Amino acid sequence: MLQFTKSFTQQEPIPEAAIARAVDVMRGGRLHRYNTLPGETAEVALLERDFAAYLGSRYCLACASGGYALHIALRAAGLEPGAPVLSNAFTLAPVPGAIHNAGGRPVLVETTDDLTIDLDDLAVKAADSGARLLMLSHMRGHIADMDAILDICARHGIALIEDCAHTMGARWKDRPSGSFGLAACFSTQTYKHLNAGEGGFLTSDNAELMARAVVHSGSYMLYGRHIAAPDEETFRRVRLETPNYSGRMDNLRAAVLRVQLQHLDDNCRRWTALYDTLAEGLADVPGLRLPHRPAHEAYVGSSIQFLLPGLDETAVRRFVALCGERGVELKWFGDAEPRAFTSRYDSWRYLTDVGDLPATRRILAQLCDMRVPLTFDADDCRIIAAIIAACLDQVRRDPP
Ligand SMILES: *Cc1c(COP(=O)(O)O)cnc(C)c1O
Repeated sequence: MLQFTKSFTQQEPIPEAAIARAVDVMRGGRLHRYNTLPGETAEVALLERDFAAYLGSRYCLACASGGYALHIALRAAGLEPGAPVLSNAFTLAPVPGAIHNAGGRPVLVETTDDLTIDLDDLAVKAADSGARLLMLSHMRGHIADMDAILDICARHGIALIEDCAHTMGARWKDRPSGSFGLAACFSTQTYKHLNAGEGGFLTSDNAELMARAVVHSGSYMLYGRHIAAPDEETFRRVRLETPNYSGRMDNLRAAVLRVQLQHLDDNCRRWTALYDTLAEGLADVPGLRLPHRPAHEAYVGSSIQFLLPGLDETAVRRFVALCGERGVELKWFGDAEPRAFTSRYDSWRYLTDVGDLPATRRILAQLCDMRVPLTFDADDCRIIAAIIAACLDQVRRDPP
């Protein structure tokens, strides 16, 4: 019987060049981003410059986490207390948490069978809620039809903030994910596409938004030490009316990230090759459906999802347990009890009047999710697919 033994949470080591750079920063002792010698540019400012160039955005702010970036993006975009913010019902807890933290009220939108935001429900809720902001989560790397999203936003006067925690390096119609809206947010937490332990980016082409965000992040009026930031004049207009919500990145993380950024595109290709091997192995498995990935979407396959349309809750549980016994660690989004990284919108109890989202509930009840770390190879992916197929076959032939 096939057994898989590798860890689903083991990332690759940090590149030696990044370690060397981090050691240099530590030897210098100047870990705070604003602790610079005369004429010196901090590693964080250089990283912001590099990431802005990578994405093709005018401005970039590095900060403490992806969730923090989401939070100050909303604040800097002018979210009013209690105002509605549209977002996906299928996302992870930091997204509704950021809306709540910024004083907004999440209006959750239904999910399609292909795991993107439901455009019909979005159009209805855009009209009914009066929301001025859409925080679009490209959850697990699935990118909705961005032309349709921009059209709905334009029709209803809604500004788009993209949550690109799972789409750093991905593209839609050859345009980088994160370049479609007023602002975009990224995470550099260990389980995302760059690994600094923690950290995040906020990117935008909007000078006023970025000036506010920089001051929010805790710039102590030292914004002149940024490179990928607006001019002095813009800061002068906003600096005294913008609270400091301290959440900076430090030079140690930035040093580790700058070197990794050079390998990002290569790594994205490696992830997608692993994903494609898994998808090939799962393509013809009876009772298993892979979400359709549109031709316009250049995805990064750092995780894979599939649906089990024929199975009830007990059978899905049994299937996940069987896979687990054979070393294949799956997450099930249908679980009423939030486990590890999965949680369902109805477990965010601090949200009131979310309403019922039957399509999302139906899809999450069938939805399995698996990480694809770069420490796996193509053979691993073939073994994993074979184990999944065998366990599903067993549950279907002998239902619990
Ligand atoms: C990880 C994640 C975030 C937040 O990132 P952190 O750096 O962990 O705060 C936001 N959205 C999604 C979908 C994520 O997976």
